[in-house]
Amino acid sequence: MNFSNEVFLSNLAQTTQQPYGISIERAEGIYLYAPDGKRYTDMISGIAVSSIGHRHPRVIQAIKNQLDKHLHVMVYGEFIQSSPNLLAAKLTSLLPASLNCCYFVNSGTEANEGALKLAKRFTGRTEIISCKKSYHGSTHGSLSVSGNEMKKSAFRPLLPDVRFIDFNNPDDLHYITERTACVIMETIQGDAGVRIPDTSYLQAVRKRCDETGALLILDEIQCGMGRTGTLFAFEQFGIVPDILTLAKAFGGGLPIGTFIADKRIMQCLTHDPPLGHITTFGGNPVCCASALATLEVIEEEKLLATVEKKGRLMEQLLHHPSVKAIRRKGLLFAIDFETAEQVNRIVEFAKEEGIICYWFLSHPNSFRIAPPLTITEDQVREACKAIVRAIDKSL
Ligand code: PMP
Repeated sequence: MNFSNEVFLSNLAQTTQQPYGISIERAEGIYLYAPDGKRYTDMISGIAVSSIGHRHPRVIQAIKNQLDKHLHVMVYGEFIQSSPNLLAAKLTSLLPASLNCCYFVNSGTEANEGALKLAKRFTGRTEIISCKKSYHGSTHGSLSVSGNEMKKSAFRPLLPDVRFIDFNNPDDLHYITERTACVIMETIQGDAGVRIPDTSYLQAVRKRCDETGALLILDEIQCGMGRTGTLFAFEQFGIVPDILTLAKAFGGGLPIGTFIADKRIMQCLTHDPPLGHITTFGGNPVCCASALATLEVIEEEKLLATVEKKGRLMEQLLHHPSVKAIRRKGLLFAIDFETAEQVNRIVEFAKEEGIICYWFLSHPNSFRIAPPLTITEDQVREACKAIVRAIDKSL
């Protein structure tokens, strides 16, 4: 073991006993490079983050420009700074009129924490409804509304008054009542293994929230930012949430999240109590510059136009007799196999082939593929060939 491995294992907190554990020196586009020069194709975008590829030149330039102006100057919400202003203006111009006010935070879980607090404060209610098998983050509030019991039990007590309903089951919607502050759900469940709801289901959720006055929070931290072929996944279901949460790919590789609502709702964080939600680093000017450049790249390079075509091509190329099912929306894939052990072997053999694919948090017998949206069709073909070789070896 070399020095850097030893530090990684001893002086950096570990989250699993089997970390993926490759060393990375630099990254460019869809590729990661190890210190020995080995090249890996990043078929998971650093878990749905590097959707416009690693170190997109436009993003790097925007970061450099901001570095020359200023870094952090004040906690969120006090000073007027052009970087978060420009980002909020651009982002809200791409959203329906009712999603006109952004609160910038530092991560996905924080975006959901803010959204939950906002819903409780706005409605004056306490009950939160979430979905079984959901994942919303690892801090106490987001963990409380995540569905995987195995990940939660050691950390109880968690938030009270949380009820879980079946995802995509209209029979459970009667649990949403006048007591409910909010319903939080992923538009497409990511870590449950890419679960795509019926349009009629999401529309019924929207209707039930309207009838009861519960706010609908859609978590698009994983499925947003073009991953499914539209900038926001909810656009494909004909509904608009009351609060939208984004992170991951939103920052183009720097850490930033946001919860977005109508000003009428968001305004309540300013009084009773004042400073109802605060953050030191939220809206960091460098992260905002990176996020703005990312939105511009998605738009100017017309990335959304090719997502579905590349997704369909990948789906065709990944057909293999031992694949049990493929669930896909755009370039977000779950590929199911008979056993978790086979999935582990595939992920390992793919690594040897120089392809990074990975597991889901709550769905052990499938692996995830979510390549940068910038991947070319030739790169899709090359990567899929290597993945199929890894599947062959796993048999
Ligand atoms: N929501 C969803 C749907 C996610 O996939 C994730 C991260 N996997 C989160 C929330 C939490 O985001 P973060 O890790 O940035 O806190």
